Amino acid sequence: MVPDTSKMPVSGRDYPRTWDQFLDWFPDEASCIEYLEGIRWHRGFVCPRCGKSGEAFRGSRGRWICRHCRYQCTVTAGTVFEKTRTPLRSWLAAVWYITNQKQGVTALGLQRVLGLGSYQTAWAMLHRLRRAMIRPGRERLHGMVEVDESFIGRSPPNKVRDTKRKQQLANKREAQRSIIVIAVEIKEPKGFGRIRLKRVTDKSEKAVLPFVLESIEPGSIVRTDGSEAYRKLARHGYRRERTVMLGADDPAHVTMPGVHRVAALIKRWLLGTHQGAVQPKQLDYYLDEYTFRFNRRTSRSRGLLFYRMLEQALVTEPVTYDQIAGKTKHNI
Ligand SMILES: [Zn+2]
Repeated sequence: MVPDTSKMPVSGRDYPRTWDQFLDWFPDEASCIEYLEGIRWHRGFVCPRCGKSGEAFRGSRGRWICRHCRYQCTVTAGTVFEKTRTPLRSWLAAVWYITNQKQGVTALGLQRVLGLGSYQTAWAMLHRLRRAMIRPGRERLHGMVEVDESFIGRSPPNKVRDTKRKQQLANKREAQRSIIVIAVEIKEPKGFGRIRLKRVTDKSEKAVLPFVLESIEPGSIVRTDGSEAYRKLARHGYRRERTVMLGADDPAHVTMPGVHRVAALIKRWLLGTHQGAVQPKQLDYYLDEYTFRFNRRTSRSRGLLFYRMLEQALVTEPVTYDQIAGKTKHNI
């Protein structure tokens, strides 16, 4: 099946409607290659080296050879699937599985469902796909947007009696704690729109202002707390609305319901699906995955998510295992 990407993708024509149809469409590697080619080169082959389009002929083993510069490549070259040793059929099945699970999947779950030989392979596949969850050049949030910071990770202990021990534990947990900034579109009369998330080093202006600039359209109303970090918003074309805490007992969910809700959902997701095992240095990619899921939570068609994720995977630069794990080099 070759998808017709000139129009809005249609279920059963551009992406499988069901798992049965998936099995039907992708019996082997050749069918997967053809499908991915249809998505990547829907306007015809474009040479990744010289940029000429339409001037290629098919070589053996899924290769294309550019008539102009003789460059040879396959549909996976320069994408997250580059040099993979895992069959494309497993990759496609992984994307199907990931996009069909509302809460996401763990490496162990993926390994089991795909029958992969190693946990490491499943883990690295998931991490590569997480990098394809953010669409380049995506639209910024607009309208009424709440912005605030939140902590991810366990809070310092308060039940330990021994002060020295308490301090040690507090330091250890502090090192595992991350600060994230959350932006949530607020809909009238109620409900939330899209979100953006980012891990930041601290709550300073230097850390949070760039996040606002890259995530929110100027002209929007940005609702923040009284923090000095947001004082220059007006200078950048935003309308700032401060939510003033009336007293110490004023709970955050009253003044910032969107941020409060999203922060609680992320924490629950990290503790539930991922059992709290996410390390601070990996957190960015989990936040990308959460954003992907949240912003498409109302999507009626899971199959369309499958299609969108493949589209993004094909324009996402390759990442090596080294980059993901900082360990031994091997292709997955
Ligand atoms: Zn070329």
